[in-house]
Amino acid sequence: MAMPSEIFKLNTHELPRRAGEMRQYQLDLKIIEKVGVELIAIPAGEIIEVDARLEAVAQGVLLTAQIYATAFGECIRCLVPVKVEIDRPIQELYFYESKPERGARRKKVIEKNEDDLDYDDELHMAGDVMDLEIPIRDAIVLALPINPLCSPECAGLCQECGEKWASLSPNHAHELIDARWGKLSGLASQPEIDPDFKN
Ligand SMILES: [Zn+2]
Ligand SMILES: [Zn+2]
Repeated sequence: MAMPSEIFKLNTHELPRRAGEMRQYQLDLKIIEKVGVELIAIPAGEIIEVDARLEAVAQGVLLTAQIYATAFGECIRCLVPVKVEIDRPIQELYFYESKPERGARRKKVIEKNEDDLDYDDELHMAGDVMDLEIPIRDAIVLALPINPLCSPECAGLCQECGEKWASLSPNHAHELIDARWGKLSGLASQPEIDPDFKN
């Protein structure tokens, strides 16, 4: 079974290492782990589409791509399902590995901070392999709302009955205060100790 991050790796051996060379790639990345934020994400098993153009430049490979995916979550106020279509551009320069030590050091950093997105701004090729995970994750996270809503005006749920305010009549109300006082006064009139109660 492939590691979740393996699917983000693109082998660029078809791209000659001469400045000005270009290749197009259409990738359907079937993700193994969800990608997104806590309350809304692209679920595992879904596809992230990547329309990528790679261009060899003097220092490395320039990636220009459009990312397409669909994220699912729920409205934080009324809990109905919320879907967000992601359509975002990314552009990143991946530097060629200049020395083997550099690649090795970089690898260590990645292993150490696997879940930490802001460890290093520079991206590097690993031989012919370009790891698309960080720019794709960043683009998706930036496209998603931290607090998803079904609509900006969502009024949420009635706190008493749990119905959506949008589906309740404008004068919907509960006679809560009276009911609560009634219950409290009932409790107050009961005997303090239940004679049948034993520990
Ligand atoms: Zn809502
Ligand atoms: Zn209600």
